[in-house]
Amino acid sequence: SITPATLSAISNAARKGVLFKGGIHVENLSHINAIAFDKTGTLTKGKPEVTDAYFADEADKTYVTAVVGAIENESTHPLAQALTTYSKQQHDDNPSIDVHDMKTLGGKGVTAIVDNQKWEIGNPDFVGRKEAEAFANVSAELAAEGKTIIFAKADDTIVAVFALKDTIRKSTKKAISKLKKARIHTVMITGDNERTAKAVADEAGIDHYIASCLPQEKVEHVKALREKYENIAMVGDGINDAPALASANVGVAMGEGTGVALETADMVLMKNNLERITNSINLSRRMNRIVK
Ligand code: ADP
Ligand code: MG
Repeated sequence: SITPATLSAISNAARKGVLFKGGIHVENLSHINAIAFDKTGTLTKGKPEVTDAYFADEADKTYVTAVVGAIENESTHPLAQALTTYSKQQHDDNPSIDVHDMKTLGGKGVTAIVDNQKWEIGNPDFVGRKEAEAFANVSAELAAEGKTIIFAKADDTIVAVFALKDTIRKSTKKAISKLKKARIHTVMITGDNERTAKAVADEAGIDHYIASCLPQEKVEHVKALREKYENIAMVGDGINDAPALASANVGVAMGEGTGVALETADMVLMKNNLERITNSINLSRRMNRIVK
């Protein structure tokens, strides 16, 4: 049965745009020692844009950009949408490109066949560290600015490097500093590379980050964090985050997140305002004192 104090906490939270799916989650939230955040779409808006493009000397820029746009057009990933938009912006007359055998490798990139060539578009590990070496200087600099680096490879040659910048949410920095004051440890978990992850974590003021994490590894990290901090919350927005949300003591979804994340979560930030997390923790701690 639900106590009047719990009911009042839930309706109080609801007025501020925080949806609790039951009294037990308010109680659990009051015991949280650490919070793990997904990066893209959670700490950031999840709407990246292409800011830089570099091409190999021998590459045909127009053709390469068109092929990358056509391949990424078949992916729903936010990075893919940004690359497709960019490609369209570069051409008044979009050349028609036939894409065959397009495959998505979650957390790594995509592959496809175009004009009998095998294309690979994705992170440095995916296209091969050795091949990416030729662009090491530019990519290190771009990543230090918090940009995500995407390589495009045709057969065995890297033909282009794209940098994409996502913007941090308005509420992110304040939310993290409020959590620090509430003595809650913050962690960012991302599939993005080490350098980009560090730049974003630094900008947000996050205590600790885990980079190059494959979608299926998120759950393991959440479990490890539970061993270390006992009670943790996980905040995410994507399909990939759902298992991690379910493995945390409190799973939190962004209101504009995907259906599966919203369904799995114990708590939803209807207005995508991360600062509401600290307010809710304070509310839950107060409620706990009233109950006991
Ligand atoms: P995040 O944790 O930021 O949400 P993901 O796990 O979705 O990231 O992806 C991790 C990395 O895999 C991206 O930073 C990118 O390098 C690569 N990647 C994923 N999807 C694509 C795609 N459609 N095209 C190119 N690269 C991709
Ligand atoms: Mg995300």
